[in-house]
Amino acid sequence: MENRLRSLYLLQLVDLSLDELQEMKGDLPQIVANLSENVKNKLANKKELEDILKKTIVIRDKTDTDILSLKAKMEKYKTQQFQVKTNKQYDMLAREIDLSQEKITKLQRDMETLEGNAALAKEDIEKLLPELETLQAELTDRKKELAAVNKEHEDEELKLQHQREKIVSKISKTDYQMYSRIRKAEDGRAIVSVQRKSCGGCFNRVTPQRVLELRKNAAIIACERCGRILVSDEIVESVKNIL
Ligand SMILES: [Zn+2]
Repeated sequence: MENRLRSLYLLQLVDLSLDELQEMKGDLPQIVANLSENVKNKLANKKELEDILKKTIVIRDKTDTDILSLKAKMEKYKTQQFQVKTNKQYDMLAREIDLSQEKITKLQRDMETLEGNAALAKEDIEKLLPELETLQAELTDRKKELAAVNKEHEDEELKLQHQREKIVSKISKTDYQMYSRIRKAEDGRAIVSVQRKSCGGCFNRVTPQRVLELRKNAAIIACERCGRILVSDEIVESVKNIL
């Protein structure tokens, strides 16, 4: 039992040190993740707009060619009208000319729409570029910052993680689950010492009888108010020598 309590308290100390390291990094990891996501989305948006612009221009050019060839056809019909012999032939050509004119009018309207769409896409891309540039610059800066913080504490973090693994391997699954559950619920602190006859977590008074029991290191004793596991000074002292 004594070893069980000692391992749990050790794990608590290592986790608190790891928490401290995490705190030093602050919001940086999250900021970097958010910025990366934002840049990714903007790049996708830009690609989409560029594709639209490209396609629109292709269709516009095709429409332009179609209009030109229709106009050429119309000119040909007009010339032919002077050469025909019968009224019927003349009327037939007149109908063809009308039809071509209708098609041209429709295509010209299409052209206007296409030009408008292309202009809008271009405008959107131009708006996007400086935003993207700013975001990318910020992402680069923040990544550098995070890398510097990581580098600074890399060795310590590795050492602590290694220690943690060793300790966890000695703790039963049930104890580890209990520890994790209390730690999560109680602000990261699941195992606390008794200080001045009070719980080191919530400062609730611990009765003299429980203090006596605690000193035996023979059972898992939880604070009656907050539920954190209490450990004796003896455990605290012995752990100090290990770390
Ligand atoms: Zn408590």
